[in-house]
Amino acid sequence: MIVTDTHTHLYSEAFDDDRETVIENAISNGVERFFIPAIDSTYTQRMMDLKRTYPENMFLMMGLHPTHVKENYKEELAHVEEMITTHDFCAVGEIGIDLYWDKTFLRQQQDAFRYQIKLAKKHKLPIIIHCREAFDEIFEILEEEKGENLYGIFHCFTGTLEQAQKAISYNFKLGIGGVVTFKNGKIDTFLEKIDLSHIILETDAPYLAPKPYRGKRNESAYLLHVLEKVALIYKKEEAEIAEITTNNSKLVFGV
Ligand SMILES: [Zn+2]
Repeated sequence: MIVTDTHTHLYSEAFDDDRETVIENAISNGVERFFIPAIDSTYTQRMMDLKRTYPENMFLMMGLHPTHVKENYKEELAHVEEMITTHDFCAVGEIGIDLYWDKTFLRQQQDAFRYQIKLAKKHKLPIIIHCREAFDEIFEILEEEKGENLYGIFHCFTGTLEQAQKAISYNFKLGIGGVVTFKNGKIDTFLEKIDLSHIILETDAPYLAPKPYRGKRNESAYLLHVLEKVALIYKKEEAEIAEITTNNSKLVFGV
């Protein structure tokens, strides 16, 4: 059984003391494909180091995270563009709009999101969307940019059934993570209505650990708890869910 973690920040400082153990533990549990979202230029070297150490297992994205869109965002976007032009990446991400933490840079977040969508289209890459309290703002931009060359993943999907269907209509898959195991996570109440062809699995480690680790540091090995819950919801074997969601991830990322 191969399980794919489509969103894990393994380069994070949270893993500085035991990164190798964390990765080996995930791999020995069947979680052996890791998709690594970018945040900003300060993490680029750490991401490249990760890829060099585990070339078969790590797949890197490049992008500017919406909560890191600040005064210097144009310089950051230039870095993203330069990296995408000169290196191989599997996606532009994570990008999007986050109005939960701070609304100060909304206009700049929208600008950065549009810019990176255009970059993804130019390089024929999927986009990985981070959306927090911003479904209306994100959908407004997807409506402008939609088309067969726009596709990707709504990472850590936590919306309603209606928002899920809308995301799917724009050519996006839904990233399902630890929230599906939470008592108040809500998505477990309608997920079965969504065809499995639209679902992929993720941890968002070190954040959003699933039950029974909720509140603790998340690790890619904990993806098995997400897998278990999704299998229960769809009333299928875990191995089948692992196979379908891994195949879905290959369709999106092309690797
Ligand atoms: Zn993330």
